[in-house]
Amino acid sequence: MTGIILYLLLYTNKYFLKLKRLKLDSILNIFGMKIQETESKYFMKDDKHNFFMQKALSQAKLALKRNEVPVGAIIVTSSGNIIGRGYNKIESKKCQTAHAEVIAITKACKVVGDWRLDNCWLYVTLEPCLMCYGLIKLSRIKGLIFGARSDLFGFGYKKKGFLKLVDKKLLIKGYFKEQECIDILQQFFKILRNKKRKVSK
Ligand SMILES: [Zn+2]
Repeated sequence: MTGIILYLLLYTNKYFLKLKRLKLDSILNIFGMKIQETESKYFMKDDKHNFFMQKALSQAKLALKRNEVPVGAIIVTSSGNIIGRGYNKIESKKCQTAHAEVIAITKACKVVGDWRLDNCWLYVTLEPCLMCYGLIKLSRIKGLIFGARSDLFGFGYKKKGFLKLVDKKLLIKGYFKEQECIDILQQFFKILRNKKRKVSK
């Protein structure tokens, strides 16, 4: 009898020690909650990215209509709900903090009631600037999907040594639907050039 009790104690202790070594997501896997797997599968699915990037592009089109540099962003939860939308409002707000990402994140935080957006994904039509990249990291956003490259003000995705120290947990998919995101920007700058030509004539 004592032997059986000892065996059971040793066995359960071994089991819990093993559990302790495992990460939370692995523990959840044991109970059939394959969080990590779901997320990685989600991350790889381009059809979902297509859908949400179109939503971000719709925001960019709103900016274009209002003579702002057309950049749009949305925040999506892991279950696919859009909880924040934003487009660039630098000219109307007369402030450089009015970037699409900042507006979308602010709205998402209000919906969630928390500054932590750790189960959320950010879709934005232009590579985020350093300010927005910092905000994305501080907000603990799970994944970032961006469209056009920004050589001038982008955070430097794929450049050697870009803030790698703080980049361990953020999943990034860059240059997604890049051409569509570039097209709308080019459309804006073409309109701007035409306006300037008309003024100079
Ligand atoms: Zn920015």
